[in-house]
Amino acid sequence: MNYLRLASVLIVACGTALAQAPAAARADSFQQAPTPPTAIRSFDLSAIDKSADPCTDFYQYACGNWVKSNPVPADQVIWARSFSLLRERNRYLLWQELDAAAKSPASPLQKQYGDYFAACMNADLIEHEGLKPLETVFRQIDALKDAHKLGSLTGELEAEGSSVVLFYFDVEQDEKDSSRQIAVTGQSGLSLPDRDYYIVDSKDFQEIRKQYLEHMTRMFTLAGDAPQQAAKEAAAVLEIETALAQASTSRTDMRDPEKTYHIYTVADFEKLAPDFDFSVYFKAVKVRSFDTLNVATPDFFKAVNELISKEPVEAWRSYFRWHTLHNAAPNLPKAYFDEDFAFFGKTVTGQKEPTPRWRQCTLATDKALGEAVGQDWVKRNFPPAAKESMDKLVAALEKSLGDDIQTLPWMSDATRKAAEEKLAMIRNKIGYPEKWRDYTALKVNRDDLLGNLRRSEAFEDQWNLNHLGKPVDEKEWGMTPPTVNAYYDDNLNDINFPAGILQPPFFDFAIDPAVNFGGIGVVIGHEMTHGFDDQGSKFDGKGNLREWQTPEDRKAFSERTGCVSKEYSGFEAAPAHGDTPAQMLNGDLTLGENTADNGGLRIAYMALLDTLAAEGKSIHDKIDGYTEAQRYFLGFAQVWCQNQTEETARRLALIDPHSPGRWRVNGSVENFDEFGKAFGCAKGRPMAPVTSCRVW
Ligand SMILES: [Zn+2]
Repeated sequence: MNYLRLASVLIVACGTALAQAPAAARADSFQQAPTPPTAIRSFDLSAIDKSADPCTDFYQYACGNWVKSNPVPADQVIWARSFSLLRERNRYLLWQELDAAAKSPASPLQKQYGDYFAACMNADLIEHEGLKPLETVFRQIDALKDAHKLGSLTGELEAEGSSVVLFYFDVEQDEKDSSRQIAVTGQSGLSLPDRDYYIVDSKDFQEIRKQYLEHMTRMFTLAGDAPQQAAKEAAAVLEIETALAQASTSRTDMRDPEKTYHIYTVADFEKLAPDFDFSVYFKAVKVRSFDTLNVATPDFFKAVNELISKEPVEAWRSYFRWHTLHNAAPNLPKAYFDEDFAFFGKTVTGQKEPTPRWRQCTLATDKALGEAVGQDWVKRNFPPAAKESMDKLVAALEKSLGDDIQTLPWMSDATRKAAEEKLAMIRNKIGYPEKWRDYTALKVNRDDLLGNLRRSEAFEDQWNLNHLGKPVDEKEWGMTPPTVNAYYDDNLNDINFPAGILQPPFFDFAIDPAVNFGGIGVVIGHEMTHGFDDQGSKFDGKGNLREWQTPEDRKAFSERTGCVSKEYSGFEAAPAHGDTPAQMLNGDLTLGENTADNGGLRIAYMALLDTLAAEGKSIHDKIDGYTEAQRYFLGFAQVWCQNQTEETARRLALIDPHSPGRWRVNGSVENFDEFGKAFGCAKGRPMAPVTSCRVW
């Protein structure tokens, strides 16, 4: 598994994308009581904007009324009809488990996660402790007197779970031999969301950089540094991070598995950055010895080496001091919290008010002890019948993708056979793990929030590093059970659906098949298609990076993905205003997700046709005035009804491999003739163009 860089998920986790520690809430929001979520309708007639023409703008038709009457709440940055509402529901149910466990635990496991949650909720203690929980880390950083000793400092901080990462270092499956688990390392070390924030010379980014400097200065001042010293420290941090950003590979290139595969011997790797003592670092993070590793971004390490000589040691101390403060800020006293939220919440993401504390602590406990609290959660929220129904749906979708592969016009027989082999090898994981993780070694203190966070980070790191050289455990999960998301894993060649998403509005026992196929059916099809998108198609059925298409077929495939890339690059993510130009989508960055959306929509429709035929029903049958075909497309579109702040729309266009809701809907239906037929759109209308794109 690709533990830290899980690819091919259904949707980006929003809201907490910036905070590495859980974002806490202060003032009123700290005490704000949870309210039970409202019921979520799987099919929502009231969401439809009947004044819109489905053939001109289907998203507006399917979602227009919902979008108009559901602005982004002040404590969110994205508000989506399906994902946000279901996330709120799951979080509330999880909060009930945590709150009960915090008050009167009935098992050792409940005591553990109950204490974790209680520590997170203790506002008075956070205020009382001040910066005391960071003193040891600050002392370690102050002791750095020579930049050539960075190896031991970063290693020690990482081993203690202090999450100050100049680069990432973990254990993953070898992309070219998926039976092996090897060490992998690559770029990291920034605080702003993307390298573009540091290096693009637009007015917007210049302004953000200016405010970032001011924010860092205020944080250092709060921590007790004199104003002049604080300003100097902030400037040093920005200089180091800018140099790291300049040396970073783009997100689009990071998606290309060939571009991030460079096996080095440890000796050769050390030559990339001779001034950084990796042997000391490896020892400090307690990884067992190894001879070779994958260096995802070799040039980045060369740049780190140059920086070690170039930057004075006090600049490095400022850098580590900053990252320590920044990571902890959401869990520090109110003054730090407010300052952090004002910049990283308001300015960077456009969030107006902090997230209620109960919600953030629920998320934090799920992150730290997901398979502990998840065990109790699924007992109450995931009936065995749901798993049986999912098995049937997945089988229906597998058959459709098989049929689809049979009829693809661009593919030779040799490639067709290889694609069928890969499809037959895809494994399914549904609901929750067969075997739960053991958290016994994770020490939780009811009165030590930052200590708990650190120990949890260290526990996760050690768990991951312990995989080195061991056989792959294909039963491990990369998401916790209550998560509203799904993923495909290139190296395991498996599709994974946590119990959290197998609920209405995605999956509803009480509704007609068309709506379920438009919901969870397309989700399943989306994940399967990831095995064959521009990234997934480079891996074979065993999860190895290996070409299985003939050169001619790869050429035809690339022409087709090029069509999709061009289509989506023409979509606007955020409009122009003042001097700021419109932000367009990046068709290359979003290519895998768009390909998966298009494939998912097509094969789930085929599976629906099969299912209706088996039940003696027709796609033309009507319910609520809509045919089954129309309900299928409406059900699909209504998964993606959403609003987001402009700051977040612009930020996600740079960092999120997924397109926003409007284009996930319109971009996909435009490429599928059955949509135009279902809504009677003449060829040449915007949603039924004369020429369109098709990969799968
Ligand atoms: Zn996806």
